[in-house]
Amino acid sequence: MGSYTNCRNYAHDDPVEELKEMGSPLKLMPLHATGWLNDMKVSSPTAISVNIGNPGAFDPIYRAWTKKYPSALLAFNQIVAYGKGKKIALFLDYDGTLSPIVDEPDNALMSDQMREVVRNAASHLPTAIISGRSCDKVFDFVKLTELYYAGSHGMDIMGPVGKSGCVNNHSNGSNSSHKQGKDLKIFQPASEFLPIINEVFRLLVERTTGINGALVENNKFCVSVHYRNVDEKDWPLVAQCTNDVLKAYPHLHLSHGRKVLEVRPVIDWNKGKAVEFLLDSIGLADCESVLPIYIGDDRTDEDAFKVLREDKRGFGIVVSSVPKESYALYSLVDPSEVMDFLKRLVKWKEEEASRATIK
Ligand SMILES: [Mg+2]
Repeated sequence: MGSYTNCRNYAHDDPVEELKEMGSPLKLMPLHATGWLNDMKVSSPTAISVNIGNPGAFDPIYRAWTKKYPSALLAFNQIVAYGKGKKIALFLDYDGTLSPIVDEPDNALMSDQMREVVRNAASHLPTAIISGRSCDKVFDFVKLTELYYAGSHGMDIMGPVGKSGCVNNHSNGSNSSHKQGKDLKIFQPASEFLPIINEVFRLLVERTTGINGALVENNKFCVSVHYRNVDEKDWPLVAQCTNDVLKAYPHLHLSHGRKVLEVRPVIDWNKGKAVEFLLDSIGLADCESVLPIYIGDDRTDEDAFKVLREDKRGFGIVVSSVPKESYALYSLVDPSEVMDFLKRLVKWKEEEASRATIK
């Protein structure tokens, strides 16, 4: 991993720095502070109704929250002022960011319109999808070969077709190959965990069979236990079954997503590390000339928000229709606002390019 010590000195008059100074220190709830059940409730807030496109009509509590996490649409000029003259690298979560959250995870389709917007963004900016899903699954949803993909919370990274020459071979756990096509694997830091992940997947499927609505998904380097369709009175059963299975696997740990328990290998790797790895691998580690922007809705995205915030190299945009603590600097309500933001970003990039041509 490259050194980023040169990334810690921003001009104090930049808008991002100003926003950082406005916010109080973040206090994220410790994952296991009050037990799994409480974490399941905290990680799965009920969405409130917001009047999209009319921030004045937002719930007053939400409106107050956006003072701390300004809308990336309303603060767009501020964001692009900071990105002026820099290369913007775009990192996008999938579920709840590019696609709506749905009851059946296999039905989380992104719209054709969103696909076109992401394709257009990728033609102007280096773009990566960072998801808890396996690389194959998220690629099947997105279907764009020009992107980088980091599946399984960043534990399965592959590069775009035809850009293998841009990807460094990392010796630490890398499984690089230079095959063309969507199977180009560039980094799998948890590959030795595959057998126990498959074993735990089978056990969790068996143990949760009797829980109505529970769904266990194998995401290659992690297992997701979805309880979106489980009656809340049965959530303790989901927690108990998962806990019982995990007791025998000290090298696996659990994190909480939106109505999903994520079982992952205990390794020092997460979406934040994946962002650092990708920036380093594709030659975008210089924060003097690169502005990484990460858009995501999930608790696991906080690792990436935190890395960008603490390294003062870029920022996160949290997608949420409910107030919540975050390491992000800005907010968007839902995937439709993400689409609007990406469109504006592309338009701004095109205008910047044409201004540069005229000069
Ligand atoms: Mg998500």
